[in-house]
Amino acid sequence: MSDIHGHCLCGAVRVTCPGEPLAAANCHCTECRRATGAVFATMLFYDRADVEIEGRTNAYSHPSDRGTTMTKHFCPNCGTPVFAESGGRPGMVLIRAGILEETDAVKPGRNVFLSSRIASTPIDPEIQGFDRMPG
Ligand SMILES: [Zn+2]
Ligand SMILES: [Zn+2]
Repeated sequence: MSDIHGHCLCGAVRVTCPGEPLAAANCHCTECRRATGAVFATMLFYDRADVEIEGRTNAYSHPSDRGTTMTKHFCPNCGTPVFAESGGRPGMVLIRAGILEETDAVKPGRNVFLSSRIASTPIDPEIQGFDRMPG
């Protein structure tokens, strides 16, 4: 599949990524819910070197439940969450699926942190589910 593209609400930050991510997941943890303002966050995992990011982002770092540092990057103009990095997975970048234009490329393979999901959130029984982050 050819490259896919995404941008924040105002267009100041743009990403270009391979059409096939290493993995894709819906995360229902409380940090992802707060950071996105959505009831869960869908993320595509890539090697940082394979993703092109144009435009300046602001970042906010916080400790994860594993004691590593998560850094969330967002557009300083419109506030859109664009990507995240995990200190536990150096060299990896997590692109926010909601910013992508090629929506067919968004195919989450797992639901993680189901233990903290909002009860009304529909869960696809066809994909793997985990109470926490596996691996
Ligand atoms: Zn923006
Ligand atoms: Zn999360």
